[in-house]
Amino acid sequence: MPVRYPPMPRERIEAEIAVVGAGAAGLYAALTAARAGARVALVSATPLARTASYWAQGGIAAALAVDDSPDRHREDTERAGRALVRTSAAAVLCRDAPGIVADLEGLGVHFDADRHGNLALGLEGGHSLRRVVHAGGSATGRRVVRHLSALVAEAERIEVLEGSRAAAVWTADGRCVGVVCEDGRSIHARGVVLATGGSAALWSRTTNPPGSLGIGLLLAHEAGAALADLEFMQFHPTAVTGITGREGFLVTEAIRGEGARLLDAGGERFVDELAPRDEVARAIWERMTASGLTSVHLDMREVDPLLFPNVVGALQEAGLDPTRELVPVAPAAHYGMGGIVSDLDGATTVPGLYAVGESACTGLHGANRLASNSLSECFVFGARAARAALSEPHAAPGEPPVAPELPVPSRASREALWRDAGLVRTREGLERLRDDPYPLVRLVAAHALLREETRGAHIRADFPATDPALDLHHSVSRPDASRGYERWT
Ligand SMILES: Cc1cc2nc3c(=O)[nH]c(=O)nc-3n(C[C@H](O)[C@H](O)[C@H](O)COP(=O)(O)OP(=O)(O)OC[C@H]3O[C@@H](n4cnc5c(N)ncnc54)[C@H](O)[C@@H]3O)c2cc1C
Repeated sequence: MPVRYPPMPRERIEAEIAVVGAGAAGLYAALTAARAGARVALVSATPLARTASYWAQGGIAAALAVDDSPDRHREDTERAGRALVRTSAAAVLCRDAPGIVADLEGLGVHFDADRHGNLALGLEGGHSLRRVVHAGGSATGRRVVRHLSALVAEAERIEVLEGSRAAAVWTADGRCVGVVCEDGRSIHARGVVLATGGSAALWSRTTNPPGSLGIGLLLAHEAGAALADLEFMQFHPTAVTGITGREGFLVTEAIRGEGARLLDAGGERFVDELAPRDEVARAIWERMTASGLTSVHLDMREVDPLLFPNVVGALQEAGLDPTRELVPVAPAAHYGMGGIVSDLDGATTVPGLYAVGESACTGLHGANRLASNSLSECFVFGARAARAALSEPHAAPGEPPVAPELPVPSRASREALWRDAGLVRTREGLERLRDDPYPLVRLVAAHALLREETRGAHIRADFPATDPALDLHHSVSRPDASRGYERWT
Protein backbone atom coordinates (compact mmCIF):
# COMPACT_ATOMS: atom_id res chain seq x y z
CA MET A 1 0.00 0.00 0.00
CA PRO A 2 1.49 3.43 -0.89
CA VAL A 3 1.68 5.76 2.10
CA ARG A 4 -0.51 8.85 1.83
CA TYR A 5 0.84 12.03 3.35
CA PRO A 6 -1.44 14.93 4.27
CA PRO A 7 -1.02 17.92 1.92
CA MET A 8 1.74 20.38 2.92
CA PRO A 9 0.28 23.41 4.71
CA ARG A 10 0.50 26.40 2.37
CA GLU A 11 2.14 28.94 4.64
CA ARG A 12 1.26 32.57 3.98
CA ILE A 13 3.72 35.25 5.05
CA GLU A 14 2.53 38.81 5.60
CA ALA A 15 5.00 41.56 4.71
CA GLU A 16 4.88 45.10 3.47
CA ILE A 17 7.39 44.44 0.72
CA ALA A 18 8.40 41.17 -0.91
CA VAL A 19 11.76 41.21 -2.66
CA VAL A 20 12.63 38.38 -5.02
CA GLY A 21 16.37 37.85 -5.50
CA ALA A 22 19.33 38.47 -3.20
CA GLY A 23 21.95 39.94 -5.49
CA ALA A 24 23.09 43.55 -5.16
CA ALA A 25 19.71 44.95 -6.23
CA GLY A 26 17.57 42.73 -4.00
CA LEU A 27 19.77 43.08 -0.91
CA TYR A 28 19.92 46.85 -1.17
CA ALA A 29 16.16 47.15 -1.89
CA ALA A 30 15.41 44.98 1.15
CA LEU A 31 17.74 47.00 3.38
CA THR A 32 16.29 50.30 2.14
CA ALA A 33 12.74 49.19 2.94
CA ALA A 34 13.78 47.82 6.35
CA ARG A 35 15.65 51.04 7.19
CA ALA A 36 12.40 52.89 6.41
CA GLY A 37 10.69 50.75 9.05
CA ALA A 38 8.97 48.22 6.78
CA ARG A 39 8.65 44.47 7.24
CA VAL A 40 10.31 42.73 4.33
CA ALA A 41 10.27 39.16 3.01
CA LEU A 42 13.29 38.35 0.84
CA VAL A 43 13.13 35.29 -1.41
CA SER A 44 16.42 33.92 -2.67
CA ALA A 45 16.76 30.89 -4.91
CA THR A 46 20.51 30.42 -4.95
CA PRO A 47 23.36 30.82 -2.44
CA LEU A 48 25.11 34.17 -2.46
CA ALA A 49 28.18 32.87 -4.28
CA ARG A 50 26.02 31.98 -7.28
CA THR A 51 24.66 35.45 -7.99
CA ALA A 52 26.12 37.60 -10.77
CA SER A 53 26.59 40.33 -8.17
CA TYR A 54 29.00 38.16 -6.21
CA TRP A 55 30.99 37.57 -9.39
CA ALA A 56 31.27 41.27 -10.28
CA GLN A 57 34.89 42.28 -10.61
CA GLY A 58 35.53 45.81 -11.85
CA GLY A 59 33.35 47.91 -9.61
CA ILE A 60 30.74 50.63 -9.30
CA ALA A 61 30.71 53.64 -11.64
CA ALA A 62 30.19 57.02 -9.94
CA ALA A 63 31.34 60.55 -10.79
CA LEU A 64 33.62 61.09 -7.80
CA ALA A 65 36.83 62.46 -9.30
CA VAL A 66 37.36 66.21 -8.88
CA ASP A 67 37.35 66.73 -12.64
CA ASP A 68 34.27 64.52 -13.16
CA SER A 69 30.55 65.34 -12.99
CA PRO A 70 27.21 63.50 -13.27
CA ASP A 71 26.73 65.18 -16.66
CA ARG A 72 30.01 63.83 -17.95
CA HIS A 73 29.12 60.33 -16.66
CA ARG A 74 25.74 60.61 -18.42
CA GLU A 75 27.36 61.69 -21.68
CA ASP A 76 29.67 58.64 -21.59
CA THR A 77 26.67 56.39 -20.82
CA GLU A 78 24.76 57.84 -23.77
CA ARG A 79 27.72 57.55 -26.13
CA ALA A 80 28.24 53.87 -25.26
CA GLY A 81 24.49 53.17 -25.55
CA ARG A 82 24.42 54.13 -29.25
CA ALA A 83 21.57 56.68 -29.37
CA LEU A 84 19.21 54.41 -27.44
CA VAL A 85 19.83 55.46 -23.84
CA ARG A 86 16.83 56.90 -22.04
CA THR A 87 18.28 60.22 -20.93
CA SER A 88 16.02 60.57 -17.89
CA ALA A 89 17.18 57.19 -16.52
CA ALA A 90 20.85 57.96 -17.16
CA ALA A 91 20.46 61.35 -15.46
CA VAL A 92 19.03 59.73 -12.31
CA LEU A 93 21.74 57.07 -12.23
CA CYS A 94 24.62 59.49 -12.68
CA ARG A 95 23.22 62.02 -10.21
CA ASP A 96 22.57 59.44 -7.46
CA ALA A 97 25.57 57.08 -7.85
CA PRO A 98 28.03 59.17 -5.75
CA GLY A 99 25.52 59.28 -2.86
CA ILE A 100 25.12 55.49 -3.10
CA VAL A 101 28.87 54.98 -2.72
CA ALA A 102 28.78 57.20 0.39
CA ASP A 103 25.82 55.24 1.77
CA LEU A 104 27.60 51.91 1.20
CA GLU A 105 30.64 53.26 3.02
CA GLY A 106 28.34 54.38 5.83
CA LEU A 107 27.00 50.82 6.00
CA GLY A 108 30.56 49.61 6.50
CA VAL A 109 31.69 48.62 2.98
CA HIS A 110 35.43 49.27 2.54
CA PHE A 111 36.46 50.36 -0.94
CA ASP A 112 40.07 50.43 -2.11
CA ALA A 113 41.91 53.66 -1.39
CA ASP A 114 44.90 55.31 -3.05
CA ARG A 115 48.04 56.19 -1.14
CA HIS A 116 46.50 59.49 0.01
CA GLY A 117 43.53 57.68 1.54
CA ASN A 118 41.09 58.82 -1.17
CA LEU A 119 38.89 56.34 -3.02
CA ALA A 120 40.95 54.66 -5.77
CA LEU A 121 39.17 55.05 -9.11
CA GLY A 122 39.60 52.53 -11.93
CA LEU A 123 39.37 53.18 -15.66
CA GLU A 124 37.18 51.00 -17.90
CA GLY A 125 36.14 51.02 -21.56
CA GLY A 126 33.91 53.88 -22.71
CA HIS A 127 34.62 56.05 -19.64
CA SER A 128 36.36 59.31 -20.48
CA LEU A 129 38.17 59.31 -17.12
CA ARG A 130 38.76 57.21 -13.98
CA ARG A 131 35.40 56.61 -12.38
CA VAL A 132 35.10 53.04 -11.06
CA VAL A 133 35.11 52.42 -7.30
CA HIS A 134 36.32 48.94 -6.36
CA ALA A 135 37.05 46.67 -3.43
CA GLY A 136 39.71 44.00 -3.02
CA GLY A 137 41.11 44.92 -6.45
CA SER A 138 38.75 42.99 -8.70
CA ALA A 139 36.70 41.33 -5.94
CA THR A 140 34.19 44.20 -5.70
CA GLY A 141 31.00 42.16 -6.00
CA ARG A 142 32.11 39.57 -3.49
CA ARG A 143 33.12 42.17 -0.90
CA VAL A 144 30.02 44.32 -1.27
CA VAL A 145 27.33 41.63 -1.37
CA ARG A 146 28.93 39.65 1.45
CA HIS A 147 28.72 42.73 3.62
CA LEU A 148 25.14 43.56 2.58
CA SER A 149 23.96 40.01 3.12
CA ALA A 150 25.44 40.01 6.62
CA LEU A 151 23.45 43.18 7.34
CA VAL A 152 20.31 41.56 5.92
CA ALA A 153 20.83 38.47 8.08
CA GLU A 154 21.07 40.70 11.16
CA ALA A 155 18.07 42.87 10.26
CA GLU A 156 15.10 42.00 12.44
CA ARG A 157 12.59 43.34 9.97
CA ILE A 158 13.79 41.15 7.10
CA GLU A 159 12.64 37.54 6.84
CA VAL A 160 14.80 35.60 4.41
CA LEU A 161 13.32 32.64 2.53
CA GLU A 162 16.59 30.99 1.57
CA GLY A 163 16.69 28.36 -1.15
CA SER A 164 13.14 29.28 -2.15
CA ARG A 165 12.17 30.08 -5.73
CA ALA A 166 9.35 32.40 -6.72
CA ALA A 167 7.17 30.61 -9.25
CA ALA A 168 4.42 33.16 -9.88
CA VAL A 169 3.48 36.75 -9.25
CA TRP A 170 0.23 36.81 -7.30
CA THR A 171 -2.29 39.22 -8.81
CA ALA A 172 -5.82 40.23 -7.81
CA ASP A 173 -8.06 42.69 -9.67
CA GLY A 174 -5.25 43.67 -12.03
CA ARG A 175 -2.68 44.49 -9.38
CA CYS A 176 0.18 42.59 -7.84
CA VAL A 177 -0.55 41.56 -4.23
CA GLY A 178 2.28 39.16 -3.57
CA VAL A 179 4.32 36.27 -4.82
CA VAL A 180 4.05 32.48 -4.69
CA CYS A 181 7.02 30.13 -4.25
CA GLU A 182 7.65 26.67 -5.61
CA ASP A 183 7.65 25.23 -2.10
CA GLY A 184 4.02 26.29 -1.64
CA ARG A 185 4.72 29.34 0.53
CA SER A 186 3.19 32.65 -0.48
CA ILE A 187 3.91 36.22 0.54
CA HIS A 188 1.18 38.81 0.67
CA ALA A 189 2.64 42.33 0.34
CA ARG A 190 1.69 45.82 -0.84
CA GLY A 191 4.53 45.76 -3.31
CA VAL A 192 6.72 43.10 -4.91
CA VAL A 193 10.22 44.00 -6.12
CA LEU A 194 11.67 41.57 -8.66
CA ALA A 195 15.47 41.56 -8.49
CA THR A 196 16.00 38.23 -10.18
CA GLY A 197 19.02 39.18 -12.30
CA GLY A 198 19.67 38.76 -15.99
CA SER A 199 19.50 36.05 -18.62
CA ALA A 200 23.04 35.80 -20.02
CA ALA A 201 23.43 32.17 -18.88
CA LEU A 202 20.76 31.25 -21.41
CA TRP A 203 23.53 31.59 -23.99
CA SER A 204 25.79 28.51 -23.83
CA ARG A 205 28.98 30.60 -23.79
CA THR A 206 28.64 32.99 -20.91
CA THR A 207 30.45 34.80 -18.10
CA ASN A 208 27.41 34.39 -15.81
CA PRO A 209 26.52 31.94 -13.04
CA PRO A 210 24.12 29.17 -14.12
CA GLY A 211 21.10 30.75 -12.40
CA SER A 212 21.03 33.81 -14.70
CA LEU A 213 18.22 32.43 -16.86
CA GLY A 214 15.82 35.36 -16.91
CA ILE A 215 13.14 33.59 -14.83
CA GLY A 216 11.96 36.92 -13.42
CA LEU A 217 11.23 38.18 -16.93
CA LEU A 218 8.96 35.21 -17.54
CA LEU A 219 7.19 35.63 -14.17
CA ALA A 220 6.57 39.31 -14.85
CA HIS A 221 5.38 38.75 -18.41
CA GLU A 222 3.04 36.00 -17.25
CA ALA A 223 1.57 38.49 -14.75
CA GLY A 224 0.95 41.01 -17.54
CA ALA A 225 4.13 43.11 -17.51
CA ALA A 226 5.73 44.41 -20.69
CA LEU A 227 9.30 43.41 -21.65
CA ALA A 228 11.71 45.48 -23.71
CA ASP A 229 14.99 45.39 -25.66
CA LEU A 230 15.53 41.63 -25.41
CA GLU A 231 17.64 41.70 -28.60
CA PHE A 232 20.42 43.54 -26.78
CA MET A 233 22.72 41.03 -25.10
CA GLN A 234 26.14 42.46 -24.33
CA PHE A 235 29.00 40.15 -25.25
CA HIS A 236 31.96 40.80 -22.98
CA PRO A 237 35.10 40.96 -25.11
CA THR A 238 37.52 39.22 -22.76
CA ALA A 239 36.20 35.94 -21.39
CA VAL A 240 38.76 33.14 -21.08
CA THR A 241 38.53 30.32 -23.58
CA GLY A 242 40.31 26.99 -24.02
CA ILE A 243 41.44 26.67 -20.38
CA THR A 244 39.91 23.70 -18.62
CA GLY A 245 37.77 24.70 -15.66
CA ARG A 246 37.84 28.39 -16.60
CA GLU A 247 35.74 28.52 -19.77
CA GLY A 248 33.91 31.89 -19.80
CA PHE A 249 35.85 33.23 -16.80
CA LEU A 250 35.82 37.01 -17.05
CA VAL A 251 39.01 39.03 -17.18
CA THR A 252 37.82 42.43 -16.07
CA GLU A 253 38.09 45.41 -18.34
CA ALA A 254 39.78 47.27 -15.48
CA ILE A 255 42.90 45.25 -16.37
CA ARG A 256 42.83 46.85 -19.82
CA GLY A 257 42.39 50.14 -17.97
CA GLU A 258 45.77 49.45 -16.34
CA GLY A 259 47.45 48.83 -19.68
CA ALA A 260 46.71 45.22 -20.80
CA ARG A 261 46.64 44.93 -24.59
CA LEU A 262 44.72 42.78 -27.05
CA LEU A 263 46.86 41.00 -29.65
CA ASP A 264 45.87 38.99 -32.71
CA ALA A 265 47.47 35.76 -33.93
CA GLY A 266 50.32 37.76 -35.46
CA GLY A 267 51.01 39.58 -32.16
CA GLU A 268 49.55 42.86 -33.52
CA ARG A 269 47.24 45.23 -31.64
CA PHE A 270 44.01 45.70 -33.59
CA VAL A 271 41.60 47.77 -31.47
CA ASP A 272 41.52 50.53 -28.88
CA GLU A 273 41.25 48.32 -25.79
CA LEU A 274 39.25 50.98 -23.96
CA ALA A 275 36.59 51.55 -26.61
CA PRO A 276 33.01 50.63 -25.54
CA ARG A 277 32.40 46.88 -25.29
CA ASP A 278 30.35 46.40 -28.46
CA GLU A 279 33.23 47.83 -30.51
CA VAL A 280 35.94 45.72 -28.84
CA ALA A 281 33.87 42.49 -28.97
CA ARG A 282 33.14 43.04 -32.65
CA ALA A 283 36.79 43.71 -33.48
CA ILE A 284 37.80 40.48 -31.71
CA TRP A 285 35.10 38.55 -33.54
CA GLU A 286 36.31 39.88 -36.89
CA ARG A 287 39.92 38.90 -36.10
CA MET A 288 38.81 35.43 -35.04
CA THR A 289 36.70 35.00 -38.18
CA ALA A 290 39.52 36.20 -40.44
CA SER A 291 42.11 33.94 -38.80
CA GLY A 292 39.84 30.92 -38.29
CA LEU A 293 41.03 30.83 -34.66
CA THR A 294 38.79 30.63 -31.58
CA SER A 295 40.53 33.34 -29.55
CA VAL A 296 42.77 36.38 -29.52
CA HIS A 297 45.27 37.13 -26.75
CA LEU A 298 45.20 39.42 -23.79
CA ASP A 299 48.67 40.53 -22.80
CA MET A 300 48.61 41.56 -19.15
CA ARG A 301 52.25 40.80 -18.40
CA GLU A 302 53.03 44.46 -17.69
CA VAL A 303 50.08 44.91 -15.32
CA ASP A 304 50.79 44.82 -11.57
CA PRO A 305 49.33 41.45 -10.46
CA LEU A 306 48.74 42.82 -6.96
CA LEU A 307 46.00 45.06 -8.35
CA PHE A 308 43.91 42.07 -9.49
CA PRO A 309 44.70 39.23 -7.11
CA ASN A 310 41.56 37.15 -7.71
CA VAL A 311 41.86 37.18 -11.52
CA VAL A 312 45.58 36.36 -11.43
CA GLY A 313 45.01 33.68 -8.76
CA ALA A 314 42.14 32.03 -10.65
CA LEU A 315 44.22 31.81 -13.84
CA GLN A 316 47.28 30.53 -12.01
CA GLU A 317 45.17 27.86 -10.31
CA ALA A 318 44.04 26.74 -13.76
CA GLY A 319 47.66 26.40 -14.87
CA LEU A 320 48.16 29.69 -16.76
CA ASP A 321 50.42 32.36 -15.32
CA PRO A 322 49.22 35.71 -16.74
CA THR A 323 52.32 37.47 -15.40
CA ARG A 324 54.39 35.50 -17.91
CA GLU A 325 51.95 34.11 -20.52
CA LEU A 326 49.29 35.48 -22.87
CA VAL A 327 45.66 34.80 -21.93
CA PRO A 328 43.40 33.35 -24.67
CA VAL A 329 40.12 35.30 -24.69
CA ALA A 330 36.96 35.55 -26.81
CA PRO A 331 33.56 37.24 -26.39
CA ALA A 332 30.86 35.61 -24.22
CA ALA A 333 27.28 36.56 -23.32
CA HIS A 334 27.53 38.85 -20.32
CA TYR A 335 24.74 41.33 -19.67
CA GLY A 336 21.17 41.79 -20.89
CA MET A 337 20.34 45.44 -21.57
CA GLY A 338 16.69 44.44 -21.96
CA GLY A 339 14.26 43.19 -19.35
CA ILE A 340 11.03 44.07 -17.58
CA VAL A 341 9.85 47.54 -18.61
CA SER A 342 10.18 49.77 -15.56
CA ASP A 343 10.00 53.48 -14.92
CA LEU A 344 12.42 55.60 -12.93
CA ASP A 345 11.01 54.18 -9.68
CA GLY A 346 11.20 50.60 -10.90
CA ALA A 347 7.42 50.41 -11.43
CA THR A 348 6.45 47.91 -14.13
CA THR A 349 3.26 48.06 -16.20
CA VAL A 350 1.48 45.97 -13.51
CA PRO A 351 0.45 48.09 -10.48
CA GLY A 352 2.26 46.98 -7.32
CA LEU A 353 4.97 45.10 -9.25
CA TYR A 354 8.50 46.57 -9.45
CA ALA A 355 11.66 45.40 -11.20
CA VAL A 356 15.23 46.45 -10.48
CA GLY A 357 18.82 45.49 -11.31
CA GLU A 358 19.56 43.40 -14.34
CA SER A 359 16.00 42.04 -14.56
CA ALA A 360 14.70 45.55 -15.29
CA CYS A 361 14.79 47.66 -18.42
CA THR A 362 14.53 51.38 -17.77
CA GLY A 363 16.29 52.10 -21.05
CA LEU A 364 19.35 53.24 -19.10
CA HIS A 365 21.85 51.09 -20.97
CA GLY A 366 20.49 51.63 -24.48
CA ALA A 367 22.03 49.21 -26.95
CA ASN A 368 25.33 48.75 -25.09
CA ARG A 369 25.88 49.13 -21.35
CA LEU A 370 28.72 51.32 -20.16
CA ALA A 371 31.06 49.24 -17.98
CA SER A 372 30.31 49.19 -14.24
CA ASN A 373 27.01 51.02 -14.62
CA SER A 374 25.04 47.93 -13.62
CA LEU A 375 26.05 47.72 -9.97
CA SER A 376 25.35 51.45 -9.70
CA GLU A 377 21.95 50.75 -11.27
CA CYS A 378 21.22 47.94 -8.77
CA PHE A 379 21.73 50.33 -5.85
CA VAL A 380 20.23 53.53 -7.27
CA PHE A 381 17.06 51.95 -8.66
CA GLY A 382 16.86 49.27 -5.93
CA ALA A 383 16.51 52.04 -3.34
CA ARG A 384 14.04 54.04 -5.41
CA ALA A 385 11.82 51.01 -6.03
CA ALA A 386 11.82 50.00 -2.36
CA ARG A 387 10.65 53.48 -1.38
CA ALA A 388 8.02 53.64 -4.12
CA ALA A 389 6.67 50.16 -3.32
CA LEU A 390 6.04 51.29 0.27
CA SER A 391 3.51 53.81 -0.94
CA GLU A 392 1.33 51.14 -2.60
CA PRO A 393 -2.11 50.55 -1.03
CA HIS A 394 -2.83 47.36 0.94
CA ALA A 395 -5.01 45.27 -1.36
CA ALA A 396 -7.31 42.41 -0.35
CA PRO A 397 -5.64 39.41 -1.93
CA GLY A 398 -8.08 36.47 -2.00
CA GLU A 399 -6.43 33.07 -2.25
CA PRO A 400 -2.93 32.74 -3.73
CA PRO A 401 -2.64 30.77 -6.96
CA VAL A 402 -1.08 27.30 -6.95
CA ALA A 403 2.59 27.58 -7.92
CA PRO A 404 3.10 26.41 -11.50
CA GLU A 405 6.13 24.42 -12.59
CA LEU A 406 8.84 26.68 -13.99
CA PRO A 407 10.21 25.86 -17.45
CA VAL A 408 13.86 24.76 -17.65
CA PRO A 409 15.98 25.57 -20.72
CA SER A 410 17.73 22.57 -22.25
CA ARG A 411 21.37 22.48 -23.29
CA ALA A 412 20.10 22.41 -26.90
CA SER A 413 18.17 25.68 -26.39
CA ARG A 414 21.23 27.35 -24.89
CA GLU A 415 23.46 26.23 -27.73
CA ALA A 416 20.90 27.32 -30.30
CA LEU A 417 20.78 30.79 -28.76
CA TRP A 418 24.56 31.10 -28.89
CA ARG A 419 24.63 29.91 -32.50
CA ASP A 420 21.65 31.86 -33.85
CA ALA A 421 21.45 34.91 -31.58
CA GLY A 422 25.16 35.28 -30.86
CA LEU A 423 27.38 38.17 -31.78
CA VAL A 424 26.32 38.27 -35.44
CA ARG A 425 22.71 37.44 -36.37
CA THR A 426 20.72 36.82 -39.54
CA ARG A 427 17.02 36.46 -40.25
CA GLU A 428 17.51 32.83 -41.20
CA GLY A 429 19.18 31.93 -37.88
CA LEU A 430 16.73 33.92 -35.77
CA GLU A 431 13.76 32.29 -37.51
CA ARG A 432 15.10 28.91 -36.36
CA LEU A 433 14.71 30.03 -32.73
CA ARG A 434 11.04 30.86 -33.08
CA ASP A 435 9.94 27.30 -32.27
CA ASP A 436 12.33 26.77 -29.37
CA PRO A 437 10.69 25.10 -26.35
CA TYR A 438 12.01 27.74 -23.88
CA PRO A 439 9.71 30.80 -23.96
CA LEU A 440 12.46 33.38 -23.37
CA VAL A 441 14.44 32.08 -26.35
CA ARG A 442 11.38 32.67 -28.53
CA LEU A 443 10.98 36.19 -27.13
CA VAL A 444 14.66 37.04 -27.75
CA ALA A 445 14.30 35.84 -31.33
CA ALA A 446 11.13 37.88 -31.87
CA HIS A 447 12.82 41.08 -30.64
CA ALA A 448 15.97 40.43 -32.66
CA LEU A 449 13.89 39.83 -35.79
CA LEU A 450 11.95 43.03 -35.25
CA ARG A 451 15.10 45.15 -35.07
CA GLU A 452 16.19 45.26 -38.70
CA GLU A 453 19.36 47.27 -38.15
CA THR A 454 22.77 46.96 -36.49
CA ARG A 455 23.12 48.94 -33.27
CA GLY A 456 25.37 48.41 -30.26
CA ALA A 457 25.39 44.78 -29.21
CA HIS A 458 22.83 43.77 -31.84
CA ILE A 459 24.63 43.02 -35.10
CA ARG A 460 22.50 41.90 -38.05
CA ALA A 461 24.63 40.66 -40.95
CA ASP A 462 21.59 41.23 -43.20
CA PHE A 463 21.04 44.82 -41.93
CA PRO A 464 24.60 46.09 -41.33
CA ALA A 465 23.72 49.79 -41.01
CA THR A 466 22.21 51.69 -38.08
CA ASP A 467 18.79 53.13 -38.90
CA PRO A 468 18.66 56.70 -37.49
CA ALA A 469 14.84 56.53 -37.53
CA LEU A 470 15.15 54.00 -34.69
CA ASP A 471 17.23 56.26 -32.43
CA LEU A 472 15.64 56.21 -28.92
CA HIS A 473 13.18 53.52 -30.08
CA HIS A 474 12.89 50.50 -27.77
CA SER A 475 11.34 47.21 -28.82
CA VAL A 476 8.51 46.30 -26.46
CA SER A 477 6.57 43.02 -26.03
CA ARG A 478 3.22 43.69 -24.45
CA PRO A 479 1.19 41.16 -22.47
CA ASP A 480 -1.41 40.86 -25.27
CA ALA A 481 1.44 39.36 -27.39
CA SER A 482 1.67 42.48 -29.58
CA ARG A 483 5.14 43.84 -30.21
CA GLY A 484 6.46 47.15 -31.52
CA TYR A 485 8.64 50.18 -30.92
CA GLU A 486 8.18 52.84 -28.25
CA ARG A 487 10.15 56.07 -28.10
CA TRP A 488 11.57 56.71 -24.61
CA THR A 489 13.30 59.90 -23.49
C1 LIG B 1 31.67 37.89 -14.02
C2 LIG B 1 30.89 39.15 -13.94
C3 LIG B 1 31.51 40.35 -13.64
C4 LIG B 1 30.79 41.53 -13.57
N1 LIG B 1 31.43 42.69 -13.22
C5 LIG B 1 30.70 43.82 -13.04
C6 LIG B 1 31.30 45.02 -12.55
O1 LIG B 1 32.48 45.05 -12.23
N2 LIG B 1 30.52 46.13 -12.42
C7 LIG B 1 29.20 46.14 -12.74
O2 LIG B 1 28.55 47.17 -12.62
N3 LIG B 1 28.60 45.01 -13.20
C8 LIG B 1 29.31 43.85 -13.34
N4 LIG B 1 28.69 42.72 -13.78
C9 LIG B 1 27.25 42.75 -13.98
C10 LIG B 1 26.56 42.80 -12.62
O3 LIG B 1 27.28 41.97 -11.73
C11 LIG B 1 25.13 42.35 -12.68
O4 LIG B 1 24.44 43.02 -13.69
C12 LIG B 1 24.44 42.65 -11.36
O5 LIG B 1 25.21 42.14 -10.30
C13 LIG B 1 23.06 42.04 -11.33
O6 LIG B 1 22.59 42.15 -10.02
P1 LIG B 1 21.12 41.72 -9.68
O7 LIG B 1 20.96 41.96 -8.23
O8 LIG B 1 20.18 42.36 -10.62
O9 LIG B 1 21.08 40.14 -10.00
P2 LIG B 1 21.96 38.93 -9.46
O10 LIG B 1 23.16 39.35 -8.74
O11 LIG B 1 22.12 38.00 -10.61
O12 LIG B 1 21.01 38.23 -8.40
C14 LIG B 1 19.80 37.63 -8.81
C15 LIG B 1 19.17 36.95 -7.62
O13 LIG B 1 17.88 36.50 -7.98
C16 LIG B 1 17.68 35.19 -7.51
N5 LIG B 1 16.60 34.60 -8.28
C17 LIG B 1 16.49 34.45 -9.63
N6 LIG B 1 15.31 33.90 -9.93
C18 LIG B 1 14.64 33.72 -8.76
C19 LIG B 1 13.37 33.20 -8.41
N7 LIG B 1 12.51 32.75 -9.34
N8 LIG B 1 13.02 33.14 -7.09
C20 LIG B 1 13.88 33.57 -6.12
N9 LIG B 1 15.10 34.10 -6.40
C21 LIG B 1 15.47 34.16 -7.70
C22 LIG B 1 19.04 34.56 -7.64
O14 LIG B 1 19.11 33.42 -6.82
C23 LIG B 1 19.90 35.72 -7.12
O15 LIG B 1 19.85 35.75 -5.71
C24 LIG B 1 29.40 41.52 -13.84
C25 LIG B 1 28.76 40.32 -14.13
C26 LIG B 1 29.48 39.14 -14.17
C27 LIG B 1 28.77 37.86 -14.45
